[in-house]
Amino acid sequence: MSWDVAIERARSSIMPKTYDALARYRYLQDLRREVRKAKEEVVRNLDFYIEEFRKSVERIGGRFYLAGDGREAADAAAKIVGRGKVVVMGKNNVANETGLHKRLEEEGNEVWETDLGAFLVQLSGEEGSHIIAPAIHLTREQAAELLREKLGIAVPPDPVAIAQRVREFLREKFMKADVGITGANALAADTGAVVLVENEANIRLTSAFPPVHIVYDGVEKIVPTLIHALYVASVQAAYAGLYPPTYINVSAGPSSTADIEMHRVSPAQGPKEYHVVLVDNGRRAAARDPALWEALLCIRCGRCHLHCPVYRALGRGFGEPPYTGPMGVMWTAVTRGIEAAGPHALKCVHAGNCKEVCPMDIDIPQVIHEIKNRYLKNKT
Ligand code: SF4
Repeated sequence: MSWDVAIERARSSIMPKTYDALARYRYLQDLRREVRKAKEEVVRNLDFYIEEFRKSVERIGGRFYLAGDGREAADAAAKIVGRGKVVVMGKNNVANETGLHKRLEEEGNEVWETDLGAFLVQLSGEEGSHIIAPAIHLTREQAAELLREKLGIAVPPDPVAIAQRVREFLREKFMKADVGITGANALAADTGAVVLVENEANIRLTSAFPPVHIVYDGVEKIVPTLIHALYVASVQAAYAGLYPPTYINVSAGPSSTADIEMHRVSPAQGPKEYHVVLVDNGRRAAARDPALWEALLCIRCGRCHLHCPVYRALGRGFGEPPYTGPMGVMWTAVTRGIEAAGPHALKCVHAGNCKEVCPMDIDIPQVIHEIKNRYLKNKT
């Protein structure tokens, strides 16, 4: 009963906001076409853009790491973090994909998710169920019960009260944090900047408050320029039903000041270290694949989920978390292979809604059809 209630509450809240933003801000249609072109350019020349991005990160005083698989990525981040630290994290599907949270805890670190949904999922000990709303499967009653049971915090089943109590709890963690880890909505090859879009301000605090900022994401998030990265943030927010977003954050290197004799020194009030860990984990092979390459254009707006009848029926059972729903079936194939994605592809009923609503015009049903074919062919 709770999944049906939660998903219908979420749909009726977010869908009108998406349609309203798209009708009000017509330029978003041009931006989404620009973003598709820019992302296609990068997918076709992925190694070139990874190298351009690396050079830019180093030019602005950051450190760059390229990991072949999830384990290598989590190890690289764990080495930067060290042991016995307090780590705050922004919502990050690649951290989930690669088991980063657990890996950091194995090193004796105290790790806190700071996105409200991801925080609730952390308390529950379960997997998230949606790429931008990981706790979409929880009702307000269940969220309040989690706070009571796991943290001893008594709160009524009211979203305002729950958000306020979590804010109070996390405030102290931000103050104590040694390291902040975020993902990326987009990474600009020309400047080495990361662009992140949000409403909660937890990403702003995570990336600016601790002395070390680690950006941890996939190589497909690279776009040619900072302007393209800002376009990605705008389109992602609009198609997620959150336009205008409350915050768009740009980070490009450690904090610094030149207020004394125009001599630039670092750090100032923000981080003194800026690290970017990018993971391949199947992405470069997918970029060369005649069907899967299109999955790399996804900007993680989560719109296809809400329009998909199979996701609405099965939730986390359609795709492998963190990659659920129509985009999740494609991304399960990218990161875990056809064998893992095949059983999920077979559940697809090819309603086609996902293709119609996708801002990147990804032919999702065709990609899923191809995954199905390859999976069944492997079985015969
Ligand atoms: S596949 Fe398209 S609709 Fe689905 S999350 Fe990605 S960009 Fe959004």
